[in-house]
Amino acid sequence: MTARLLAVFAHPDDEAFGTGGTLSQYAARGVEVTLVCATRGEVGEIADPSLASPETLGSVREMELQCAAEAMGVREVILLGYRDSGMVGTPENDDCRNLINAPEGEVVVRLVAIIRKARPDVVVTFEPNGGYGHPDHLAIHRHTVRAFHLAADPGAYRELGPAWQATRLFYTAIPHQFFLQLREGMVRLGMDTSDVDLRLGGENPAWPDEAVNVTLDVADRVGEKWDALNCHRTQFGPANLFRRLPDQLTKELMSREYFALAWPEPEPGLHLTGLFDGLEVAGGR
Ligand SMILES: [Zn+2]
Repeated sequence: MTARLLAVFAHPDDEAFGTGGTLSQYAARGVEVTLVCATRGEVGEIADPSLASPETLGSVREMELQCAAEAMGVREVILLGYRDSGMVGTPENDDCRNLINAPEGEVVVRLVAIIRKARPDVVVTFEPNGGYGHPDHLAIHRHTVRAFHLAADPGAYRELGPAWQATRLFYTAIPHQFFLQLREGMVRLGMDTSDVDLRLGGENPAWPDEAVNVTLDVADRVGEKWDALNCHRTQFGPANLFRRLPDQLTKELMSREYFALAWPEPEPGLHLTGLFDGLEVAGGR
C-alpha cells in the first residue's frame, strides 16, 4: 500500500514554512500527499503592491499555493473556500464568510468527507495554538481534530462513506530550540530579538522541546522548500526575516521540521524517526 499523507492548514503559505520540507520529502518518496487549505488568505500581507490589491489577493494567493504545491510535489490541493478571518482583534474578524464564523459542524463535515475519500495514514495540522495564535489556525486545528475522530466513527455521517481511521495525527510545531538557534544568529548580526524573546519564555511561548516526537531532517529538500516559500511572493517579501539572515543560517533553520504526535497519545519521551515510522506502508518512514 502506498503511504498517504493529508495536511490541513488555514492559509496559502502555512504549509511551506513548517512542513515544506516534509511534504516534498515524502512526495519524492512516492507518498501521496494531499493538502487542504481552508481559506485563500484574502487579508494577508501584500509585500509588493504590483503583485496584488486587496481585491485580488485571494486569487493571487490561490495561484501562489498551486505554485508551492507543484514545487513540493503535492498531488492534490483542496480549497475549502472560507474567507481569511484576519489577525485577532481586526475588523476583518466579523465577516460572516470567515472560517472563524463558519458553523463548526459545516467545516467538520467537509473535513470528514475529505478524510474518508483520501484515506490518509497520517494527518498533519497545527498545534492547538496554531503556531502563534492566528484565529484561523486555532479554528482549523480544532475542526481537523474533531474530523479526524469522527471520520473513524462508523456511526457518524454514514452518508459520507465508510469510516476511516487514520493511523496517526500529528501537530506541526515550531519548538523552543528553533527560536533559540534563530536568536543566537540574530544576536550575532546585532538584530533586534524582541519578537523572538516573546517565544522564549515570554507571553507567547514556543512549543516545548520535550513535546516534540519527530524531528525530521529535511536538509535534502531545503531547495524545494525555499522554492515553495518563494512561490508565496505576496507574503515572503524582501523584508522577511529569513531573507535577511545569512544563507547558511537560513538553510540550517530550514533543515529540520518538528512534529508532535497527538493521536494515539504518545508515551512521554517517544521519538519516532519519521511520520510513518513503524507503519507498514510503502514510501513512508
Ligand atoms: Zn496562516
